[in-house]
Amino acid sequence: MASCLFCRIIQGEIPATKVYEDDRLIAFNDINPQAPMHVLVVPKAHVATLNDLEAAHDDLVGAMVRAGAGIAHDRGIADSGYRTVFNCTAGAGQTVFHIHLHVIGGRVMAWPPG
Ligand code: AMP
Ligand code: ZN
Repeated sequence: MASCLFCRIIQGEIPATKVYEDDRLIAFNDINPQAPMHVLVVPKAHVATLNDLEAAHDDLVGAMVRAGAGIAHDRGIADSGYRTVFNCTAGAGQTVFHIHLHVIGGRVMAWPPG
């Protein structure tokens, strides 16, 4: 989607600090990090929100979660803990309408989230 920020990052039209890439996914540092580590795991296919997922996306979403866990492992925070978040629609704080998994860590996380 030409107007989608994350599609433009995937196309290389907008720079990002990539930390992982495979045929289906990319992951890059969030431009406004909420913790020492704040990575976004993003599918290369455009899906606007979790509400738009279909059964055909099940493997893709599983791969997103496993990629996030792998990045946390590589950063040495798998055991100490990290937060994974999908915001779904504006009421939950979604601002970029191309699904992405926030992987946030490197500090103690509070609960409940705001
Ligand atoms: P959400 O609010 O859940 O839709 O998350 C969108 C995230 O994208 C926010 O945490 C933003 O800081 C982040 N973001 C926005 N623009 C960029 C960009 N150009 N590069 C990296 N992250 C971005
Ligand atoms: Zn997109």
